[in-house]
Amino acid sequence: MKIISINAGSSSLKFSLINMEDESVIASGVFERIGIDGSYTIKFNGEKYTENVNLSNHNDAVNILLEKLISLNIVNSLEEIEGVGHRVVQGKDVFDKTVIVDNEVMEKLESIKHFAPLHNPANMLGIEAFQKALPNVPNTVVFDTAFHQTMKPETYLYPVPYEWYEKYGIRKYGAHGTSHRYITETMNQILNTDNFKLISCHIGNGASITAIENGICVDTSMGFTPLAGVMMGTRSGDIDPSLIPPVMESEHKNIDDIINDLNKNSGVLGLSGISSDMRDLETAYENGNERAILTMKKYVRRITDYIAQYYVLLGGATAIAFTAGVGENSPLIRKMVCDNLKCLGVQIDEEKNKVRGKQTCISTDDSKIKVYVIPTDEELMIARDTLNLIKNA
Ligand code: ADP
Repeated sequence: MKIISINAGSSSLKFSLINMEDESVIASGVFERIGIDGSYTIKFNGEKYTENVNLSNHNDAVNILLEKLISLNIVNSLEEIEGVGHRVVQGKDVFDKTVIVDNEVMEKLESIKHFAPLHNPANMLGIEAFQKALPNVPNTVVFDTAFHQTMKPETYLYPVPYEWYEKYGIRKYGAHGTSHRYITETMNQILNTDNFKLISCHIGNGASITAIENGICVDTSMGFTPLAGVMMGTRSGDIDPSLIPPVMESEHKNIDDIINDLNKNSGVLGLSGISSDMRDLETAYENGNERAILTMKKYVRRITDYIAQYYVLLGGATAIAFTAGVGENSPLIRKMVCDNLKCLGVQIDEEKNKVRGKQTCISTDDSKIKVYVIPTDEELMIARDTLNLIKNA
């Protein structure tokens, strides 16, 4: 059985075609510059196929994708595709799990789309394009927020007027839920039980930390939007909102400009003035650049603060897991974070920590909390959910 995982953005559409018998990726790729001009890159059998094509909308991208699956001999017939799973950024408290798309689901998606105006409408365009192109194939929607729906009100509410929650849905929703769920399920396989306390650290360009107990989310660092929590590549993470008016006034900016600055010009990029990419920061840090050293200290401190907070919240921790671009690939950041956690009995083995992008335990045998590197796989999680739903439909 073959399933396609889709991540549609406003001008892009990423896909992975997965063989569910062995969960291997048959082909993957990206369609870009949709609505501008258009190009695609498809990876298959060790080859990379790239072409400029006219992509006036998401339907064009899906039609060309399906045509290429046949012409490149990736599949013999489109009937081999038995399901399409779509990543959706915001499910609010309307969706707490993956569901098969029907008219009612599309109506619900429509009603919440203004909560993620840059992402949800694009995700919906992807769904509609597949409904048109493959009318007999079920589509599912997998929400970045769904895993966090188990948080309790004292966790997800902000200490602001309660009516803001009642009237406008102002609360913590979190993000990266599909990744944190993948890490939880992988930890379940490693430990052979879901009876564990896990602090899952998804640290990529975007970053979030999640506290998990008995397989469910207890708290997560992102908030009403992904701007909250730890410091990220270009996002500030938690700040005091009172800093906004004086900057607006001095720089003659409006609130949209400031929110844009907090999302795109802050975090590692903003503080260092060097780059948002941790590889560039590490190089500058190793060369003794003072702003890079300051930025690394702040970055690591923010991650450590959340881990410490969740350690207390969970009443201890069985394991800490590092995942995503930085978490999987940066021995330096992992070491700096874990060194800050020595007082909790965390000890990493420097040899084992030299790993990049490979699932492994990096703590010493006598570390009080086990520390793992677990490469995340959101596409596979989306495909697994889709398979489970269509098998039981
Ligand atoms: P996104 O949030 O865009 O999905 P990723 O999880 O792909 O992000 O992470 C991207 C980030 O991972 C890059 O910005 C880079 O900082 C970091 N990264 C990738 N490889 C390395 C590496 N070898 N060492 C340190 N950081 C890395």
